[in-house]
Amino acid sequence: MYFDSHVADLLRASTELVNLMTCRDAGGRPAEVPTGAQLRRDLGVALARGGQPVHVSRDAELILRRFADDARPIFEAVADEDYDEAARRTNALLTWCRPAPRLDNAGDGWHMHFHGPTDELGDGWAAGCAAALTMAIGSRHAGRLGVCEAPRCDRVYVDSSKNGTRRFCGVTCQNRVKNAQHRARNE
Ligand SMILES: [Zn+2]
Repeated sequence: MYFDSHVADLLRASTELVNLMTCRDAGGRPAEVPTGAQLRRDLGVALARGGQPVHVSRDAELILRRFADDARPIFEAVADEDYDEAARRTNALLTWCRPAPRLDNAGDGWHMHFHGPTDELGDGWAAGCAAALTMAIGSRHAGRLGVCEAPRCDRVYVDSSKNGTRRFCGVTCQNRVKNAQHRARNE
């Protein structure tokens, strides 16, 4: 694991928020972006902990959407290897997410968590995810953020593979590209 498990968890949540709300295309077809009550249910599942979906309010939905809109260009800048732009965008994200580190003890010792300006769900997740992106961009593993390279897919990912050579959002896109190359060779 390249990032502390709490940070890795927040990076995973960041990618889920970006992929749920900001894709134009996903896996080779136009992305279906949920809205309203369906979006809030999907967000509750994306942020579920211990298998239990969380309740997401309209206010939380707005904050999480703002986070996703601001986080996508960070993944895109890293994919373009423009780390100055990624850093500038991350700093802009921090100005409103305002993560504050705090030590919490859930009975298994003290762990650092990031809290938001309030203890509301949206503020908390936006702050935590912004802090995780900050630590990723500010580390030598910054390049592990990425955007799927398959045609007609702009899903984002965090590469946690050993050698750091991931290029696609998942096996579906990897196989799409592989099959297309195979067909091209046999034509
Ligand atoms: Zn993809």
